[in-house]
Amino acid sequence: MPADQPSRVRMPSPPPPSARQTPDFGATDLDAAQAWARLDAALDAAAATGRSVDLWWRDDDAVAPNPALDRLLDLAAETAVPIALAIIPAHTGDELAAALDRRAGDGAETTALVHGWRHHNHAPDDAKQTEIGDHRPLDTVAAELVAGRERLAALFGPRALPVMVPPWNRIGASVMAALPDLGFIGVSGFGAEGAAPAPLVEANVQLDPIAWHDDRRYVGDARLLDDLVAEIAKGHGRPIGLMTHHWAHDDALWACLARLAGVIAAHPAARWRPAGAVFAGGPAAASAA
Ligand SMILES: [Zn+2]
Repeated sequence: MPADQPSRVRMPSPPPPSARQTPDFGATDLDAAQAWARLDAALDAAAATGRSVDLWWRDDDAVAPNPALDRLLDLAAETAVPIALAIIPAHTGDELAAALDRRAGDGAETTALVHGWRHHNHAPDDAKQTEIGDHRPLDTVAAELVAGRERLAALFGPRALPVMVPPWNRIGASVMAALPDLGFIGVSGFGAEGAAPAPLVEANVQLDPIAWHDDRRYVGDARLLDDLVAEIAKGHGRPIGLMTHHWAHDDALWACLARLAGVIAAHPAARWRPAGAVFAGGPAAASAA
């Protein structure tokens, strides 16, 4: 959920115990430099074998314009990277719709995806946070999801795509099965695909730069890029999803995202794909079924 954006860069600080590198100051920078080189090598290797690497960018929890969202949209405009905004229907409104219209003139290509209904946790205390799980009657959840889809369509017009992004990336099996009947064409959670029934197009995100249970810190360039390299190495041909939360970024993460946006856009074997293409059932998306 939206919260105050961290105002200070937290570098340098010793890596946490779980990190791979030894806690030497400077090691993190070196690790990052090597990770950027590994990404270049992975993209070059893909190019050498005629493969292309597709990425798409999903940013969650948009509600209204604010400095952090402005920064994201500035980045999108400057780098011409399309951004899929997972928008919380019950909390958004005309202000965001007008901002996205205005930003389109600057070159920021955005798509509006349905992020649950009001991003409210309905799971029991001993379960992980879930808004659209199987904890409530299906009819109750279904009514919210239809309301959310219709609200975004009314507010965002052609920018809205009937794709469900479950809050906390969790969705009940019965809710998932009902999505096509509720007017959704796609779903996007986290991790490996394979949970969505036909005819839903499932395009998940696999990259998360925030360590949510470690003070919401940025995991660092090395970890994020190595996760990306690992996804590229799988060679499955499906779009690789980057998940961000604009409200939780520190300056180091913003800098990494700007650099990554440019690296992918500039490499002949890689490209950023708009959500409309990712969920269109095209060759890349179809192979995810
Ligand atoms: Zn969320």
